[in-house]
Amino acid sequence: MHGAIEKVLFSEADIRARLDELGAMITEDLRGEKVSAVVILHGGIIFTADLLRRVQIPLTIDSLSVRSYYGGTESSGEVSFGEGALPDVEGRHVLLIDDILDTGRTLAAVKRKLLEEMGATAVSCAVMLAKDKKRADEVDVEYVGFEMADEFVVGYGLDYQERYRNLPFIGVLDPTHADA
Ligand code: 5GP
Ligand code: MG
Ligand code: MG
Repeated sequence: MHGAIEKVLFSEADIRARLDELGAMITEDLRGEKVSAVVILHGGIIFTADLLRRVQIPLTIDSLSVRSYYGGTESSGEVSFGEGALPDVEGRHVLLIDDILDTGRTLAAVKRKLLEEMGATAVSCAVMLAKDKKRADEVDVEYVGFEMADEFVVGYGLDYQERYRNLPFIGVLDPTHADA
């Protein structure tokens, strides 16, 4: 196991098995729709790559840069959109993909923008993880990999100060090794 990880919550095998289920559900639900997958950078990229290879329908893939965390382990409470062109999702059913649902502010803000400003006809959300807690902003998430306790995790796309995203499992950082 990686030395900086205190405990593994979801192993590579756990993740693989759950991805097979999510991919089958999404394939079934979105068949016949004009689908644009939109991944929230950077946390969602690993999940997106693994998930979309299991979604057996035609779709486009786009990304959005959104910030709600500023390097620490607590939500800043603000959601800001990054520079750069927004994806063209006019008339599309968006499959919005992020790594984790925490306060709900990120997905709620992006979903609103997609529907109210960007012309999406529908938005379905997928996250690998959902923290079991009261949301600051309620948002429906159709596809959840795993529910988990309210603790700070890394790996499988999730970072601590931009590191650990490439761990193939999801775990809790050992605070004494956070900078290792
Ligand atoms: P929300 O807007 O739901 O509070 O937070 C969503 C974003 O916060 C996620 O996309 C992710 O970037 C970050 N985040 C929330 N919880 C965690 C966590 O436990 N670990 C890491 N690394 N990032 C988190
Ligand atoms: Mg994020
Ligand atoms: Mg982050």
